[in-house]
Amino acid sequence: MYYIVRCPKCGAIQATTSSSELKCKGCGASSAMRREGQWSVEILAEVPDARTAGFMVRKLKMMEAAKK
Ligand SMILES: [Zn+2]
Repeated sequence: MYYIVRCPKCGAIQATTSSSELKCKGCGASSAMRREGQWSVEILAEVPDARTAGFMVRKLKMMEAAKK
């Protein structure tokens, strides 16, 4: 399972396979994915494979860019 997440530090959207720790590709910060049973980072989507994850990240970044 791939998680599409937003870094709580810099807001960068990215995919990760870890459900315990996010190491941001944008700013390099490590964030715990869960805290006390709750997600502590924003999960934008859960997808089954790397190809879909790449597609979702691109799509979400485009949607984000269109909002501004
Ligand atoms: Zn970041």
